[in-house]
Amino acid sequence: MPRVGLPRVGLRGLLDTVPTDYYIERMVMPLKIVGLGKEQVRFVWSMEQEEVWSARDLRLRCTCAYCRSEVTGEKILDDSTIPEVVSVTKMDLVGNYGINIHFSDGHTTGIYRFRELRGAAPAIK
Ligand SMILES: [Zn+2]
Repeated sequence: MPRVGLPRVGLRGLLDTVPTDYYIERMVMPLKIVGLGKEQVRFVWSMEQEEVWSARDLRLRCTCAYCRSEVTGEKILDDSTIPEVVSVTKMDLVGNYGINIHFSDGHTTGIYRFRELRGAAPAIK
């Protein structure tokens, strides 16, 4: 019986079939993240690009199940419950796509995807 299945494609062949912009987007990874113990987090994306987020803006943007409905995507978090000054107490890489940040208000469940953060930092107030 002949074997049926997907044609064997080498890694090179696979990459050739992925649109370039998609491939690059998947590879978003900062060179450096500076923010532990601080009220601001600096993401160094490349030699030419870096962005600074206030820790509070990151906290308000959290998409975890406590802060945003998993069903509707609607924001549950009430911004007014978050202190005016928030700092970062811990940061951990999540795979190669994001970062988990612990905040001084006790919130620890947020995961931030690099491809969603890059280029999206609001102006620091
Ligand atoms: Zn959250």
